[in-house]
Amino acid sequence: MTDAASWPARAGAGAPTLAGLDARLTRCRACPRLVAWREETARVKRAAFRDQEYWGRPVPGFGPPDAALAVVGLAPAAHGGNRTGRMFTGDRAGDLLYATLHGLGLASRPTVTGRDDGLELYGVRVTAPVHCAPPDNRPTPGERDTCRPWLARELELLRPTLRSVVVLGGFGWQAVLPVLRDAGWSVPRPRPAFGHGVRIALAPADGPAADGPLSVFGCYHVSQRNVFTGRLTPRMLRGVLAEAARAAGLDVPAGESE
Ligand code: SF4
Repeated sequence: MTDAASWPARAGAGAPTLAGLDARLTRCRACPRLVAWREETARVKRAAFRDQEYWGRPVPGFGPPDAALAVVGLAPAAHGGNRTGRMFTGDRAGDLLYATLHGLGLASRPTVTGRDDGLELYGVRVTAPVHCAPPDNRPTPGERDTCRPWLARELELLRPTLRSVVVLGGFGWQAVLPVLRDAGWSVPRPRPAFGHGVRIALAPADGPAADGPLSVFGCYHVSQRNVFTGRLTPRMLRGVLAEAARAAGLDVPAGESE
């Protein structure tokens, strides 16, 4: 394994804090294809964003270090997170996700534009198992596995407060369950199948019982295609996020009818 390819495992495992992890992550160059794609996209740009400086680096998770709920997608979008430097910011998927979190009282504002827009999340961390934008939004299995130590360490650091995870989409589900095992929870074999509204409970594999259990929810991805076709409606998304927030002990407005 090259020095660059082993960097996520070495640097991720040794990060003492989430801030330190994020700083190390943004210097990662372990996946040659994704490094080339994120930088090429940042150089060529989309016409609508020609005047903007693209981030063009790995995109760290976003949200407080004592989050009780994690929302996990698959990877940043080429002209979304890879442009703004923040997960689910700058594309339609993020517009719906953050508007829904705001509606539930979990985000400070309903619209997001970039890293300097003042957005705060309350008890929620938004992240992904692959931190660089992949071509066609599809990382290879090898890239997914190479990136895995970053999310494993992020979830391990969140573990004292983390009680609930929402996984967006079946590809994310396949990627996240092994990471949850790496981060210290018992994942059944065979692995539970993905579905919208599926809920599973994972016990801590070791450590104090006070660390768990962890409720994991499946939700169709907030992709433009899913929303456009009606596969995922705003009401469906709100329903899963509200249930997961309650499972995490977060306050969601009373009287929600999902
Ligand atoms: Fe590093 Fe992950 Fe980006 Fe690969 S996808 S270069 S492991 S941050």
